[in-house]
Amino acid sequence: MSDTQVKPDRMAWIKGPVANCSVFPDKPVRAWRLVLLGAPGVGKGAQAELLAERLGACHLSTGDVFRAAKAVPECQCSPSMAGALDYMRRGELVPDHAVLSIIKERIGCLRCRGGFLLDGFPRTVGQAEVLQMFLRAYDVLPDAVINYDLPTSEIITRISGRLTCADCKAVFHATSRSPKQAGVCDECGGKLFQREDDRPETVKVRLEAYRQQTMPLINYYKKLGLLVTVDAWGTPADVFAKTIETLRSSTLAGHQLSFDS
Ligand code: AMP
Repeated sequence: MSDTQVKPDRMAWIKGPVANCSVFPDKPVRAWRLVLLGAPGVGKGAQAELLAERLGACHLSTGDVFRAAKAVPECQCSPSMAGALDYMRRGELVPDHAVLSIIKERIGCLRCRGGFLLDGFPRTVGQAEVLQMFLRAYDVLPDAVINYDLPTSEIITRISGRLTCADCKAVFHATSRSPKQAGVCDECGGKLFQREDDRPETVKVRLEAYRQQTMPLINYYKKLGLLVTVDAWGTPADVFAKTIETLRSSTLAGHQLSFDS
């Protein structure tokens, strides 16, 4: 990330209209707008964090919004959010109308001059069509859609060892990115836990939802000329290097993606 950019503040995204973005950038050096696609567990979240650090755009994850809502006492959750969380617990996709109302509440984040990194949204063709309509209306269409590709067997290995920090949400892995001290986050000292939806029986449902409802987005974005595919084998640093190289060499929607302007 360049010195002239500020570190993105995700609170407006996580909390919705009750929070303001305290670091809305006046003059970003170059606003990046990317959509990250791929099966659950492929490493989109880790790549989004690295890309946010490098490009200065804000990491917007719908899964993080649902997990933040899950952390508040049940009585403070709206009935529609409580219903959405039941889908999440089962590993199913939250219905489009509920996801889209959450997006509408946070529409300012899509219009941010600092750009965005969408992680986990859209997840259905219906969501993608509405997103495309919003982005076109605000003249903030994505530069590219990155499809992270990995065989299912490796995805299952990754998910089953995944550990998430209860405080800062940093992601570790029992074998491939183990924390220095077992059960403790390297970043903030928070407690690491296995996400409820990373349990084996739920993972099966999530992968099936991906196959049936999200995979069609690959063709959707290919037809729009926005899709680039990145092989997601390797460490987060390896995959990040491949991502940057792919973005550097891609000519999408008729323009060369530049890291300098
Ligand atoms: P993630 O962290 O992106 O894997 O999301 C965790 C869970 O939140 C998913 O398994 C879904 O239940 C729900 N979820 C997140 N984003 C969406 C979305 N765009 N559409 C439907 N459900 C979603």
